[in-house]
Amino acid sequence: MTPERYAKILRVLSKRQPTLTVLMDEVNKPHNLSAIVRTCDAVGVLQAHAVPPRGGRLVDFDGHTFEATSGSAHKWVPVQKHEGAVGAVRDLQAQGFQVLATHLSQRSVDYREVDYTRPTCVLLGAEKWGVGDEAADAADHNIIIPMFGMVQSLNVSVAAATILFEAQRQRLAAGMYDAPQLSEAELRRWAFEWAYP
Ligand code: SAM
Repeated sequence: MTPERYAKILRVLSKRQPTLTVLMDEVNKPHNLSAIVRTCDAVGVLQAHAVPPRGGRLVDFDGHTFEATSGSAHKWVPVQKHEGAVGAVRDLQAQGFQVLATHLSQRSVDYREVDYTRPTCVLLGAEKWGVGDEAADAADHNIIIPMFGMVQSLNVSVAAATILFEAQRQRLAAGMYDAPQLSEAELRRWAFEWAYP
């Protein structure tokens, strides 16, 4: 580990946003998972969350299937696994996160109407069936990216990027990237983990 590399690690960690995260609910295509994690790294998500897809092919959250498209981002954004979406939503709410389900419902609002400077988790749904109704009901808000085309939905990684960069925009305006959001002790602990994995 060179001093320059360690300085870069500290620089990146000083921008990390421990109060911004995503919960991927059975997102099952490795290239989508990779692209979401790569966006998480870019906006400063410290840790992501996922409910692994049921049945079928298991996605390797420990790294291998991320490699092709994440550009190694999976090394810098650990993904914590959960058993089910509703339980994960409640866990994250208990930790103080508002959960925003990307879901079309009676109570959906435009994703730009939400305050992302609050501790926020964006719940993303599976490619085929989206966010389940129960998890969407348990979420604090349902949000949508308005669309005016013939196709009904965006690719999940595109939706994630659109919303996370709105969160980044609001947090930049609020000065949340100007000073470390991690405590000194947390910053040193993460730096050690990144430097000596
Ligand atoms: N047939 C599914 C449905 O009815 O929800 C489509 C799922 S879409 C391909 C996969 C995921 O991308 C969604 O669960 C959501 O997380 C995200 N997504 C796609 N389009 C979106 C939009 N316009 N607004 C918000 N999220 C969107």
